[in-house]
Amino acid sequence: MEGHIVIIGAGHAAAQAIDSLRREGFKGTITLVGDEPYLPYQRPPLSKKYLAGELELERLFIRPESFYVNHGVTLRLGQAAKALDLAARQVTLADGSTLEYTQLLLCPGTRARKVVAHGAELAGIHYLRSAADVQAIRSRFAPGSRVVIIGAGYIGLETAATCRKAGLEVDVLEMAGRVMNRVVAPEMSSFFAAEHARAGVRLHFDTLVSGFEGRDGAVREVHALDGRVFQTDLVVVGIGILPETALAEAAGLACENGIAVDAHCRTSDPHVYAIGDCVSAPSVRYHRRVRLESVDNAFEQAKTAAANMVGRTVVHDKVPWFWSDQYDLKLLIVGLNFDYDQVVIRGDVHSRSFACAYLREHELLAIDCVNNAKDYMAARKVIETRGKVDPTLLADAGVALRDAVLA
Ligand SMILES: Cc1cc2nc3c(=O)[nH]c(=O)nc-3n(C[C@H](O)[C@H](O)[C@H](O)COP(=O)(O)OP(=O)(O)OC[C@H]3O[C@@H](n4cnc5c(N)ncnc54)[C@H](O)[C@@H]3O)c2cc1C
Repeated sequence: MEGHIVIIGAGHAAAQAIDSLRREGFKGTITLVGDEPYLPYQRPPLSKKYLAGELELERLFIRPESFYVNHGVTLRLGQAAKALDLAARQVTLADGSTLEYTQLLLCPGTRARKVVAHGAELAGIHYLRSAADVQAIRSRFAPGSRVVIIGAGYIGLETAATCRKAGLEVDVLEMAGRVMNRVVAPEMSSFFAAEHARAGVRLHFDTLVSGFEGRDGAVREVHALDGRVFQTDLVVVGIGILPETALAEAAGLACENGIAVDAHCRTSDPHVYAIGDCVSAPSVRYHRRVRLESVDNAFEQAKTAAANMVGRTVVHDKVPWFWSDQYDLKLLIVGLNFDYDQVVIRGDVHSRSFACAYLREHELLAIDCVNNAKDYMAARKVIETRGKVDPTLLADAGVALRDAVLA
C-alpha cells in the first residue's frame, strides 16, 4: 500500500505504529511530527529512574535514530501541529509549513491537569509529564530539601518514593481519604499508605490546597483549605491528566472524554485514526467507552490502527494491564475492576507479596499483584477467558490460582 501517513505526537503509540505499519506492508512515506525536541521516549521511568538520576535521556529512547532512518520516516521534531484541515487532508505546523496526507494518525497523548489556586504560577511548582519537567524538578533536587507532592495517585506516589530514596523530606497532600483511590480497593490503599509511612513519607488525606506563597518568585509554602501550612522548597503536582483533544476538536472530529474512535481506532473521519492516552474507544468486554493511560494500551492500539490503515480489518479488544514501581514494590494490575461486588485478598499482606482480586458474580474481573508476577500471569489467562473463581480457594495462596477456577 502506498500513500503518505502523517503521525502527530511522537510518543509510545507513535513509535509502535511506525514499526507496525512497516510490518503490515505499508510502502508509502511516513512523517512523524512531535512537539518535544526528542525521539519518542519511554515515559514510565520519568517518575522513577530518570527522576532518580539513574538513567540518561538517551537510554529512554524507545528506538534509536537509525530505526526511523531504516523505516523511511521523516522526523519533524520540536514542531507542534497547530491545525488540521480534514477536507483538504492537510496539517499545519507551528512554523507555518503544511503537510498533505492520505491518512493521519493522531497520538498526542495527554496534558497534566493544572492546579487552580492562588500562587500556582510560582517557580518551583512542577508537573511531571515530560523529560523537560523532570529536568526542571531535578535542578531543585537535593538531599534534605523539602518537597510537597499534591496528589496520591501513581505519579504522586512514585515521585514520593523516588524523593524519599534520594533523601528529600516528603509531604503528600491528597484530597481523597486514601491513596490511589480511583484505581484500587481500600485494602490495597492501606497497604501502600503504610509502606510510604514506613519510608518516612508524611501522608495528609482529605487535604485540599487553597494556595501557594513564595519568596523572590519561588514557592515556599503550600496552604491547605483547613488552615495548615506546609513549608517547602519544591512542589510536584500529580492530580491527573487530560486527553489532548484540542487539535481534533478544532478540526471537528468527534470527542468524548478523548478523541472518539471506533473498535478499529478510526475517528469520525475515515482518513484519520487515533490511538493511545488521547482516545476513548468502545470496549466490547466492558460494555462502555474506555480511555486508558498505559504503555500497553498505546502499543496494542498502535498495532490495531496500523492493520486497519493498510486495509486489514482488526478489532481492538485486549485486556489491559498496568504497572507501578514504588520502592522495592512492583505492582502489576491486569483487567479493569468496574462494578466489582467482592474483593479477595490472596496471601499475606505482611509478606509484601500478595494479590487483591476483584470479582463480580464470581467472575475474576481484575487483579492487583504486589511482588507477585506468578499470580499476575495466571490471572491474566483467567480474566481473558472470563473465568469464574471460588473466592475461598482464591484467598488461599497455597492453592495455585488456576485451581481456584470453577469448571
Ligand atoms: C511520569 C509518568 C509515569 C508513568 N508510568 C507508567 C507506568 O509505570 N506504566 C504504564 O503503563 N504507564 C505509565 N505512564 C503512562 C504512559 O507513559 C502513557 O500511557 C503513554 O506514554 C501513552 O503513550 P501515547 O503515545 O499515547 O502518549 P505520549 O507518550 O504522552 O506521547 C504523546 C506525544 O505527543 C506530543 N504532542 C501533543 N500534542 C502535539 C501536537 N499538537 N503536535 C505534536 N506533538 C504533540 C506530546 O508532547 C508527546 O510527546 C506514565 C506516564 C508518566 C507521565
